[in-house]
Amino acid sequence: MTRKKIIIAIDGYSSCGKSTMAKELATSIDYIYVDTGAMYRAVTWYCIENNIVQNDVLAVDKLVSLMPNICVEFYRTGDGSVHTKLNGKDVEKEIRGMLVSQYVSKVSALRFVREAMVTLQQKMGEQKGIVMDGRDIGTVVFPQAELKIFVTADARIRAKRRYDELIAKGEVVCFDDILANIRERDFLDETREESPLRKAPDALVLDNGVLSMEEQNTWLMNQYKRVLCEIY
Ligand code: C5P
Repeated sequence: MTRKKIIIAIDGYSSCGKSTMAKELATSIDYIYVDTGAMYRAVTWYCIENNIVQNDVLAVDKLVSLMPNICVEFYRTGDGSVHTKLNGKDVEKEIRGMLVSQYVSKVSALRFVREAMVTLQQKMGEQKGIVMDGRDIGTVVFPQAELKIFVTADARIRAKRRYDELIAKGEVVCFDDILANIRERDFLDETREESPLRKAPDALVLDNGVLSMEEQNTWLMNQYKRVLCEIY
């Protein structure tokens, strides 16, 4: 008997470990994993490279006209990890830096940017069998998702994780800057007009500040199994 495939939507705040748990689950159950934050980050990198964002000012009209030239894709590298491509070029390293983090919430607040990304995301989920993480997956992209999780954790815990991640990659960063950036992104993501960060009414809340990686992975796997049982 073939297993029925579902859509798993994982939303929540910046740097709260969504991607790690979503990726882990997708690998274990042989689902496609999509990091939608990477898509908004890639558009933001395009803006930086093409001087659409300069000195804190975003040239929205210029981005409107150049939007059709932006192609964001994912591909699997030789070591099996999934990287983001912008117009054919691997930008995985560039999109994870602080410069992109500084501007991404401004770019992602634009309606035409969201519409373009949501269309792509919905296409990726047409066959189901997908774990997608972001801010609006359970509310806008897949309101019909069979399993919705909303992840949260204290901002200082999230900043510490992000700090450790960037230091491990060899970046020179300051903890207070990261904390400020996380708080600013939370604020912008929650208060924007277009698809603000919200818990879907039927989403389960996971505060992973108090759970180990293993505990959260087990919790998520159990939720997946429970939903599958309910469907059959
Ligand atoms: O998940 P990550 O922190 O990489 O996302 C970067 C930014 O992209 C978020 O701060 C948010 O502004 C935006 N985003 C979004 N909608 C999504 C995913 C990410 O607006 N579905």
